[in-house]
Amino acid sequence: MGRYTGPVCRRCRREGMKLNLKGARCHMAKCPIDQGHPVPGVHGQRRVRKVSNYGTQLREKQRLRHQYGLQEGQFHRTFETALKRRGITGETMLQLLETRLDNIVYRLGFAASRAAARQFVRHGHITVNGHKANIPSMVLKPGDVVQVRDRERSKAFAKQSYEGTAAARLVPSWLSVDAEKFRGEVLSIPTREEIAPIVNEQLIVELYSR
Ligand code: SF4
Repeated sequence: MGRYTGPVCRRCRREGMKLNLKGARCHMAKCPIDQGHPVPGVHGQRRVRKVSNYGTQLREKQRLRHQYGLQEGQFHRTFETALKRRGITGETMLQLLETRLDNIVYRLGFAASRAAARQFVRHGHITVNGHKANIPSMVLKPGDVVQVRDRERSKAFAKQSYEGTAAARLVPSWLSVDAEKFRGEVLSIPTREEIAPIVNEQLIVELYSR
């Protein structure tokens, strides 16, 4: 299946919460969620249905998947990887998602949204430990250093994003950022508490274990 190219805000409206998919715009008064727009579709406003167990689990999975902007296949593979690792599967899955290169670039503030971060990485504007890294799904580990390449175009984009998201950005404690040098470092693998509790990941584990 190809990349989703439809209206992005529709995804937030469907989930009934802000998924912050549009960068700076998400923090403006224009955000449809802040304006109280209903669930999309002709019957969006009327829809009060009893949701089955499966429906609840599915919504939870979609919420997380859309937040990180992944296709179903990629998302499922992340779950499979988490399943093979030691520890709590749901938590490991969240850690794998959080430590993706595109997410870290977004968290550091060098791109205004995860989608922008992915494109920034893909276009070769980022290095990891001094080497060019253009694979957004690359999973980083503690000690890895992410830096915007020393090129005018790369720095201009990162600077604009960094300044544009300054009011809303909160660099998590497991990352450190040097905004002057456009450089960040992974200090540790985030704990469940350090990953804002955006979903009930146990429901996703149950869905995939059916
Ligand atoms: Fe979601 Fe951002 Fe659109 Fe608001 S502006 S609905 S948070 S994508």
